[in-house]
Amino acid sequence: MVWGPSTGRRMWTAIHRCFTRAMLNPGGFRALRQLSGRGQAPLEIPVCPSSRGRCYQHTMAAPLPVPPQPMCTPSLGMKRAMYLERERQLEVTWENGSSSRYPLIWLRDNCQCAQCMLQSATARSLPLSHLDVDTGLERVLITEPSKVSLVWPDQHVSEFDASWLKKRCFSSSARQEMQDELFLNQRVYWGSELQIPTTSFQEVLHDDKTALAWLTTLRRIGIVYLKGASLEQGQVAKLSQRIGYLRLTFYGHTWQVQDKPKANNVAYTSGDLSLHTDYPALQHPPGVQFLHCLSQAQQGGDSEVVDGFHVAYQLRQQNPEAFQILSSLRVDFTDTGSDYCDFAVQSKHRIIDVDSEGQVVRINYNNATRDSVLDLPLEQVQPFYSSLRAYVDLMTRPENVLTYRMEPGDIITFDNWRLLHGRRTYTSDPVRPRHLEGAYLDWDEVMSRLRLLRRAVYGGR
Ligand SMILES: [Zn+2]
Repeated sequence: MVWGPSTGRRMWTAIHRCFTRAMLNPGGFRALRQLSGRGQAPLEIPVCPSSRGRCYQHTMAAPLPVPPQPMCTPSLGMKRAMYLERERQLEVTWENGSSSRYPLIWLRDNCQCAQCMLQSATARSLPLSHLDVDTGLERVLITEPSKVSLVWPDQHVSEFDASWLKKRCFSSSARQEMQDELFLNQRVYWGSELQIPTTSFQEVLHDDKTALAWLTTLRRIGIVYLKGASLEQGQVAKLSQRIGYLRLTFYGHTWQVQDKPKANNVAYTSGDLSLHTDYPALQHPPGVQFLHCLSQAQQGGDSEVVDGFHVAYQLRQQNPEAFQILSSLRVDFTDTGSDYCDFAVQSKHRIIDVDSEGQVVRINYNNATRDSVLDLPLEQVQPFYSSLRAYVDLMTRPENVLTYRMEPGDIITFDNWRLLHGRRTYTSDPVRPRHLEGAYLDWDEVMSRLRLLRRAVYGGR
């Protein structure tokens, strides 16, 4: 099925109506309030219209949301630019009456001239040692409504564009807007009611708008289904090339998930795989995972996913002590064996990784590779287990677990720093064995492609 932007928008509106119902789900509602509380309008997520907030088997697919246009800065002219001597700041008053302040040291440091910038690399060439951190200013001139010139005490001249300055305004709302444009850190939380956003594999490969919608949704919602890949190996590698390059690990460039004799990983069996993130045994676990279904089991083998950030948020609300423990204690992980080459990997992670502002940024949890070595003082061991059990009990609640079944030709793409995934046990068929091919990427490469696609589709820097 082909989804044009207007089809997508219409469907989105219809889906939104159902979503309003699903917002009665208290978990979902709180999550969205938390998002909107950070100054951004909550994004809409596709939910199963038949579910009334609960749905355990998802055969329906939702179109990709249309990505919002990047922060648009209309070419706002400057009315006035004033040097505030005491504060060592430049105050710019915009045509609409609002104003922004810029510290002089920052302006001097970011002079855009050919002497201070290596323009072929868009990189600063001015060394910090050449900066007078207490610099004053000799003159300010608005040369045209969209340009301001600063003359420094040593007669060096810096010229800045109004729109360049406006985007870099130091107000907290402007900074937040810029950070969200750069990193898309506003996430939309979901539970079992999510309809996995879906698009065409071929369109992602050949159409920039579809590729942009894919990566934006992968970032915001955390999971996207691509349909219609051929039934040969190599499709996840092709998809990685659309972005940049894949992440080589000890399991190879890509890896084959099959029931294997003497399996070197629990994934390579036909057993149940409990909810986990992949590869926390690495100090830097892969950010994104692709799984391509080449052949599905006749019986069993359904997939499960959970929004680990949403469940962490629920834990913080319901059991703050457990959240505090899991987001502060570091746990050992280990993985030893031989595949691409032999390996003996060790790492230490907090199960719930938070940034300096307390926002959850990564889940590191794989029960198979959690080490028996546990570098904790004796009295912290029991509280650690109780906290982990509380988190796992929450994540396995039916309203949090989304179940789906991959069919041959499907590629699931998801955020491995956020989602936990699992697989139900299946019956091994030696004639037509279940076979998935997987690949990893890192968020740096994915976000880099996303920004470039945004420029290609919407223009701008
Ligand atoms: Zn300069």
